[in-house]
Amino acid sequence: MPIGEVLGPDVVSGGLRSLSIPGVLTRVCPIEPVSPVVLDSPHSGSLYPSDLVCSVPRMSLRRAEDMYVEELFANAPKFGAIFIQAHFPRSYIDPNRALDDLDPDLLSSDWPYPVQMGEKARLGHGLIWRFCPPDLLMYRDPLPSSQVRRRINEYWRPYHDCLHTSIEYIHRRFGEVWHLNCHSMPSSSGPGGLRRGGCTQADFVLGDRDGTSCGQEFRVIVADTLQSLGYAVAINDPYKGVELVRAYSNPAVARHSLQIEINRSIYMNERTLQKNSGFEDLKADLDKLTAVIADFATTRLVAAAE
Ligand SMILES: [Zn+2]
Repeated sequence: MPIGEVLGPDVVSGGLRSLSIPGVLTRVCPIEPVSPVVLDSPHSGSLYPSDLVCSVPRMSLRRAEDMYVEELFANAPKFGAIFIQAHFPRSYIDPNRALDDLDPDLLSSDWPYPVQMGEKARLGHGLIWRFCPPDLLMYRDPLPSSQVRRRINEYWRPYHDCLHTSIEYIHRRFGEVWHLNCHSMPSSSGPGGLRRGGCTQADFVLGDRDGTSCGQEFRVIVADTLQSLGYAVAINDPYKGVELVRAYSNPAVARHSLQIEINRSIYMNERTLQKNSGFEDLKADLDKLTAVIADFATTRLVAAAE
């Protein structure tokens, strides 16, 4: 089944197929997928829905975005990969959380669905945030359950459906799928002692949930490529990967998901939120990384067919 059939009509232009749900997501892919690779950027959205009424200043919400990540990986379809980006901010509803990772005390009425608060919700950063980092209270009053249901049905679920459908489609077509889940991290949050240039934080953190969400070779080829480009890479520390690399991965049947976190100080000024002079070099390096992943994945297919 063509992936476009699931979500609606596509726009075809320049050899690429693009589908958008306004305010929610855009998915771009080659007209004919040529490599079994899917990338997604769930946290770079900056279109704030009008019903997000909270007590946190917009600048603080914007600092919580994985800003510019969708731009850094925008060339992925040129290397044969599907690329999905969220347009809504993670502070509205976080697609990288499970539906039951919800703090029920945020709601004004009973929540009729199962709740299993994980560590993220307990820290105030579950499906719906209690706190905007570092510790700004998001809502003065509890949210109506109907509003949270709407965020789930109109934002969280379409994003998951799009990613899941894309991963399923590629897996059905090629027998394998390699999914890179793309994020960025504040420069203050990585592990210490690694970064090039005498700084103290890693440039990238790769997360495979301690070796459970992808074959080791995926993590190795991404880490080796980044290191060969001069970057310091940490593994599963402090970010192991969350819901989007957990939900659809199963390395035993060749469904591989890996999270990548980029240190924001490489490409932007975290105070002013402007791109810095490193942006274009990083983007070019991420093009090289995407090309290596696509080549790795397609070479495996050719080898398996021989
Ligand atoms: Zn993120």
